[in-house]
Amino acid sequence: MNSKLFDLSGKVAIVTGGNGGIGLGMARGLAEAGAGIAVVGRDVAKSNAAVADLRTRGIKAISVTADVTDQSAVEAMVQRVKNELGRVDILVNNAGINIRKAPHALDLAEWDSVIKTNLTSAFLCSQAAYPAMKAAGGGKIINIGSMMSIFGASFAPAYAASKGGIVQFTRSCAVAWAVDGIQVNAILPGWIDTDLTRRARVEIDGLHDKVLARTPAARWGAIADFAGIAVFLASGASDFVTGTAIPVDGGFSIMG
Ligand code: NDP
Repeated sequence: MNSKLFDLSGKVAIVTGGNGGIGLGMARGLAEAGAGIAVVGRDVAKSNAAVADLRTRGIKAISVTADVTDQSAVEAMVQRVKNELGRVDILVNNAGINIRKAPHALDLAEWDSVIKTNLTSAFLCSQAAYPAMKAAGGGKIINIGSMMSIFGASFAPAYAASKGGIVQFTRSCAVAWAVDGIQVNAILPGWIDTDLTRRARVEIDGLHDKVLARTPAARWGAIADFAGIAVFLASGASDFVTGTAIPVDGGFSIMG
C-alpha cells in the first residue's frame, strides 16, 4: 500500500468538540497522519489538555475557545486558524449535545439549543471554512451524524431531527461544492463510550447491556474507533467519495 495515500502532512484540520470524546479520537487520528489541529470547544481546561495530548504526536495543535452556535465566534475561530496555522483543509463538525425528553415534554428553548448545537453549527462552520478550501482548490468536510440519522427516537426528538438534517446537509454541500474539489461526508456513530453516553447510561435503565445485545460486534464503541475513518475521509484516499453517510457502529444499524 502507498503510505502517502493517507498522509496529511502540511494539512490543517479544525475539529469542533475536539477536546473530548469522539472529536478527540478523530483529532488523534488526523494528528497521527500529520495534520496540524485546531481543537474547538467552550471548556478551556479540557481543550488545553487535548492540545497537550495532540502535541505529543509531534504536530502543531492549537486550542480555540468558541461556541459553535455563535456566527461571529465561528468566523473569528476560522480566521484565527488561518492566522496561526496558515490554512484550513479539513473541517470536522463534531460538537453535539442531547436533551433526553419525549416530544410532548421538550420546550422550545431545549429544541433550539439541540438544533443549533448539532445542525446549525455545521452550517456556520462549513460556510466559514468554505472560502479557504475553495481558494486552496479543495478540502474535506466530515459531519458527525448518529444512528438517529436513520432511526427515530421517542426520547430524543430534537437530537434525531438534527442528526437526520446532518445527512441531508452533507449531501447538499457535497453536490454544491464538488466543483470546488471539496468532498463532504458524514459519519454515523453507534453507541460509543463518552461523556454523552455516560450520562445516558445513568438515565436509562439497562442501557449498557441492551447495547451489547443489539450490537453484532458485542461491545460499545471506543473513541479510538474514529481515528481511521477520520483519516480516510480527510485524505486523498477518499477523493471520489462524497455525500455518503458511513455508520461506525459495530453493525448496530444492520440488525433487524
Ligand atoms: P461529548 O459530550 O464527549 O463531546 C461533545 C463535545 O462537543 C464536547 O467536547 C463539547 O466541548 C463540544 N460542544 C458541545 N457544545 C458545543 C458548543 N456550543 N460549542 C463548542 N463546542 C461544543 O460527546 P461525544 O464525543 O459522544 O459526541 C461527539 C459527537 O458524536 C456529537 O455530535 C454526538 O451527537 C455524536 N454522537 C455520539 C454518540 C455516542 O454514542 N457517544 C453516538 C452518535 C453520535 P465543550 O465541553 O468544551 O463545550
